[in-house]
Amino acid sequence: MLIESVELRELRLPLVSPFTTSFSTQTERNTLVLRVAGSVPTPNGRVDVVGWGECVALGEPLYSPEYIDGAKRMIQLYLLPMLARVQAEGREVTAETVGALLEKVVGHRMAKAAIEMAVLDAELRARGESFARYFGATRTRVPAGVSVGIQPSVDALLGAVGGYLDEGYVRIKLKIQPGWDLAPVAAVREQFGDEVLLQVDANAAYTLADAQHLRRLDDYGLLLIEQPLAEDDLVQHAKLATAMSTPICLDESIESAKDAADAITLGAASVINIKPGRVGGYLEAKRIHDLSRAHGVAVWCGGMLETGLGRAANAALAALDGFSLPGDISASDRFYTEDITEPFVLRDGHIDVPQGPGLGVEPILENLARVTHDTQEVWPA
Ligand SMILES: [Mg+2]
Repeated sequence: MLIESVELRELRLPLVSPFTTSFSTQTERNTLVLRVAGSVPTPNGRVDVVGWGECVALGEPLYSPEYIDGAKRMIQLYLLPMLARVQAEGREVTAETVGALLEKVVGHRMAKAAIEMAVLDAELRARGESFARYFGATRTRVPAGVSVGIQPSVDALLGAVGGYLDEGYVRIKLKIQPGWDLAPVAAVREQFGDEVLLQVDANAAYTLADAQHLRRLDDYGLLLIEQPLAEDDLVQHAKLATAMSTPICLDESIESAKDAADAITLGAASVINIKPGRVGGYLEAKRIHDLSRAHGVAVWCGGMLETGLGRAANAALAALDGFSLPGDISASDRFYTEDITEPFVLRDGHIDVPQGPGLGVEPILENLARVTHDTQEVWPA
C-alpha cells in the first residue's frame, strides 16, 4: 500500500460496569484507533482505500509495559517515520512486511500491531477479501466466553455470573487474586454446577511459593488457570505445572511465536491465550496458532476490551481450527452501551464472524465522534 495519511484518534468509552482485575479497576476504556488512507495495487489498477487499526494498550502500564500515551508517541515519533522512509525510497508497505520493517524498534508490540492491522484492513478491503478468509478460517461463528472481574462480594459475583449464563455465554472466566480465589470458585461451582465451563485468570498475581495454595483449585474441574505467576517466570510456571493438575495457560508471558515455542518446550504452558496486540499483530498471532496446533497445544483468543474493530478481527482469528477453546470474545454490550461499530450480539452463545471485505465492519462516524477525546494527523510530511 502507498500510505497517504494516518489519523490517530484517542477514544474514551465508558464501561457498563467497572472491570476489576488483580492489577487495576477500569471504569472507562481509553483506546487508540488508527485510520490509514492510501492506495493499494490490485489486478484492476490502484484502488483508493481506508483501513482501520486499534491499539489495545491500556491507559496505564500495568498489564504490559505499553500504555496509551506511550503508544501514541511511539507510533508518531518512530514507527510511522520508519514506514515513511520506506516509501521515500520508492517501496510500498504491505501488511506482511510491516513487522519486519519495524523490527529495529525493541518491543512496543501493541503500537506495531495497530499499524499492521490498519494496513492489512486496507489491503483486504481493496482485494474484497475478509480477515477470516485471509487467515484461512473455517467457521462462520465463534463460541463466546466472558471474563468476569473481581467483585465486591461473592453474592455480587454469583449475580454477575448468573446473568452471563442467562445471556447464553458458553464459558465463564473469573479474575482471581490472593484473597479472591478459592471461595469465589467454590461458590460458582456450588451455585451453577460442574457442567459450566469455568476457568480463572490471575494476571500474574502469585508466586511459586503459592503452589500449595493454588493446587487446591484442582478440586474444581477448571479448564485452566491463566497466568498465575509473573510474566518472566517461565521456569516457575513449568514447576507449577508439575505441582497441580489444572492446565496452565499463559497470557502475559507470550509476546511472540518464539516465546510460545520456549513455553511449550519447557512445559510451562499446555494452553496459550493469544492476544494479537500483545504479540505484535494478527500475523504473529496466526504463527502462534500454527505452532501451537503443530504441538497439540490448545489456544483461545483473549480480549482487551476492544471496540467493534478489534472484536471483528479477533472473531475472524478465533474462527481458525486450532482455537479449540472458547475465547473472551463477548458481545459488545458486555462492556459498552454504545460501540463505535454496529454491535456484536450474542446468538445462541456465539458471535458471528464478519464476512465482508477487510474487518467487515465500519466505525459509525457519529458514534466515533461522540467518544473521540483527541484526533491528530500523524503521517510524516
Ligand atoms: Mg489474561
